[in-house]
Amino acid sequence: MNTRHEQHPPGVSALLSARGLRKSYGRTEALRGASLDLHEGEILAVTGSSGSGKSTLLHCLSGIVRPDEGVVTYGSEELGPMPEQRLSELRRRDFGVVFQFGQLIPELTALDNVALPLLLAGTRRGPAQQRAGEWLERFGVRGQAGLRPGEMSGGQSQRVALARALVTGPKVVFADEPTGALDSLAGEQVMTTLVHTARESATAVLLITHDAQVAAYADREVGLRDGVVHSGSADTVGQGAAHREG
Ligand code: ADP
Ligand code: MG
Repeated sequence: MNTRHEQHPPGVSALLSARGLRKSYGRTEALRGASLDLHEGEILAVTGSSGSGKSTLLHCLSGIVRPDEGVVTYGSEELGPMPEQRLSELRRRDFGVVFQFGQLIPELTALDNVALPLLLAGTRRGPAQQRAGEWLERFGVRGQAGLRPGEMSGGQSQRVALARALVTGPKVVFADEPTGALDSLAGEQVMTTLVHTARESATAVLLITHDAQVAAYADREVGLRDGVVHSGSADTVGQGAAHREG
């Protein structure tokens, strides 16, 4: 089930890379020189205790937050100097984000939440809703299509958020603790669907989790401690260490 891909040999350039990211909120240093590479089609788990800077790292990598220092590169482009409009276009076209705390639009049904990124990309309403329905189906929440986020459980909302992140066929999916609101069986189902989809379409996934079982789905794992990335995590080094560093 857990088919890990071969590692990327040294010298293969990353799809997305971060170098020396620093980000503070007031006196809190959320990131203190974090560096990371994500390769095309790679599933990379980022683990770390609460407050270690995982969400901040995801926000910086996905262009939602601009770091105070450091460089984020996507393909051959640096995110830092990009004008806001270009950045939001990139986010819409190439990135899919699942936030730690849902962030579905409360006024829209599950179906319309998932259809929205397609509508924004210019797909017509009929086909957009059709595709959205298929994605809800994949994540086992088709029955909730007509419900608004307030009418769904946390776990159902999280599945809808995953469907929304994947519906446009992004190059990179950022998932911030996507199984955090699910019991272990439901978490396994969601991870299986996410990994299967990513493999099928060579989508890279940056998977934030503090669940070792979830991290085991990844090709590679890095740990974040006090805003700095370490290769391999403290408690599951076995899996990460079996792989060469890219
Ligand atoms: P994690 O996702 O690993 O729990 P975060 O990246 O959310 O960590 O947070 C890292 C640190 O930065 C924490 O101390 C957190 O309180 C702080 N922090 C994160 N976001 C903000 C924010 N928007 N405003 C103030 N402090 C923040
Ligand atoms: Mg977080």
